[in-house]
Amino acid sequence: MSTSGAPATNWAGNTVFNARRTHRPSSVEELQDIVASADRIRALGSGHSFNRIADTDGDLVRLDGLPPLVDVTPPGGEGPAVTVGAGMRYDEVAGILHTAGSALANLASLPHISVAGCCATATHGSGDSEKCLAAAVTALEFVGPDGELLEVSRRSDPETFSGTVVGLGALGIVTRLTLAVEPAFEVSQHVYTGVPLTQLASAFDEIFGCAYSVSAFTDYSDGLARVWVKRRVTERDGSTRRSRWEGATPADSAQHPIPGAEPTHCTEQLGVPGPWHERLPHFRPDFTPSSGEELQSELLLPRAAAPGALAALRELGARIAPVLQISEVRTVAADDLWLSPAYRRDCVAFHFTWVKDAAAVLPVIGAVEELLLPLGARPHWGKLTTMPHADIAGLYEQAGAFRQLVSERDPHGKFRNPFVDEVFAPAYGV
Ligand SMILES: Cc1cc2nc3c(=O)[nH]c(=O)nc-3n(C[C@H](O)[C@H](O)[C@H](O)COP(=O)(O)OP(=O)(O)OC[C@H]3O[C@@H](n4cnc5c(N)ncnc54)[C@H](O)[C@@H]3O)c2cc1C
Repeated sequence: MSTSGAPATNWAGNTVFNARRTHRPSSVEELQDIVASADRIRALGSGHSFNRIADTDGDLVRLDGLPPLVDVTPPGGEGPAVTVGAGMRYDEVAGILHTAGSALANLASLPHISVAGCCATATHGSGDSEKCLAAAVTALEFVGPDGELLEVSRRSDPETFSGTVVGLGALGIVTRLTLAVEPAFEVSQHVYTGVPLTQLASAFDEIFGCAYSVSAFTDYSDGLARVWVKRRVTERDGSTRRSRWEGATPADSAQHPIPGAEPTHCTEQLGVPGPWHERLPHFRPDFTPSSGEELQSELLLPRAAAPGALAALRELGARIAPVLQISEVRTVAADDLWLSPAYRRDCVAFHFTWVKDAAAVLPVIGAVEELLLPLGARPHWGKLTTMPHADIAGLYEQAGAFRQLVSERDPHGKFRNPFVDEVFAPAYGV
C-alpha cells in the first residue's frame, strides 16, 4: 500500500483536491481497513471528471494498485458477462475481453477512463440503441462504511440495484463490476464533412439512425457539422441513405474531431473494419493523454428536443465559437438507472470541449444552459455546469429514492462530500 499527502489534481488540472491523504491499497483487505478507519473517504477513479464530484476533505482512495482482474466467466449465470476490477480502465479491459472473443456494447470517446468512475457518473457513448455504459452492469461488489464487503446484483436486489449503479461515489467504494458482454464484433468508421446544421436538425432521425453509433461534430462557426458514422460490419452499408444528406461529402483522409488537428491519435477511419474497441472510441487505446488542455460540459435532453436545441445553439454560435474547441452531438438510449440523465427517456447529448479558461468559458456554459435547461436538459455528472447543485436533484424523478438509499447504506455520511451534499442535502439532514 502507498499513502501520499501530496495534493492530487484531476486530469484537466482544473481541480486540486482538498483531500488530506491519498491511499493506494494493493489488496481489497487493505482497502477495507482504510475505509473502516476513515472518517470521510471517496474513491478517485482515473480523475477525468471536470468538477468536484470526486473531491473530499477526508481521504481519497485510488484502486489502480489492486490486482487487475478480468474474469470472463459468468459468475451469476445472468448471461455472458465479464467481472472487472474497479480500478481498471476500459482500454485495459477491452483488449483482454476482445482476445477472449467478447465485446462490450459501447465505449466512451476516450478509452483510458476507469470503469468504476464511468459507471458512477453515467458516462455514455453514442448510438440510437445504445444505453450509457453503466447499463451494462449486472452486479457490483463494494466496501461499505464499516469496511464490510457487500455485493448487489440486478437479480438479487431488484428494488435498489437501479439506484446503486450510478452512485456518484456516495454509496461505498466499488471493488468489482460485472458487465454484460456479447460476442466480439467488427466496426468500420466513415466521416462525412459539410453537413449543414439545418440538415442535421431536419434529418436528425435519419442521420443518427443510419448506423450503430453516430456522432456529429461542429464548432458552430460555419453552420456545418462533420458526421462520424460507425457501422457494425454486419450492417447494410447506408450509402443509398447517405446520398440524401444534402451537402455531405465522405472524407478522403483521416479526420480529428477538431478541424485541422492531426488525426494521428484517432481511431482508424476510411471504412477499414477493425475490432469494436479500436473503432467505437474516437481516440486510440495505444495513445494515453496524461493531462488535458480543455474543459468540458454536456447536457442530455429528451431526444425530441434535438431540432429545437440545434436551432438555439446555432443562434448562440457567435458566443460559443470563440471559446470552443469542438462540440459533439450524440444519442443515448433510455435506461432504468435512477440517476442516469437518460432515465426512462431516449436522449440527445450536447457535449462541449472548451478552451481551458474557466473565466471565459463559464458564462458561455451559463448561456447554453439558459437555452437548453427549459428543454428538459440534465447536466452530465462528471462535467462542468453553472446550474446550482441544489437544483439538480429536482431534475430526477428518483432523487428522493436515492436520498433514502444513501441514508440507509451510509447513515453517518462517510462517503459524503460537498458535491453530493449540495445536490442531495436532505439525505443528510442539512
Ligand atoms: C478526455 C475526456 C473524454 C471524455 N469522454 C466522455 C464520453 O465520451 N462520454 C461521457 O459520457 N463522458 C466522457 N467524459 C467524462 C468522464 O467519462 C467522466 O467524468 C467519468 O466519471 C470519468 O471517470 P473517472 O474514472 O475518471 O472518474 P473520476 O472523475 O475519478 O470520479 C468520478 C466519480 O466516480 C466515483 N468513483 C470512481 N471510482 C469509484 C469506485 N471504485 N467506487 C465508487 N465510486 C467511484 C468518484 O468518487 C466520483 O464521484 C470524458 C472525460 C474526458 C476527460
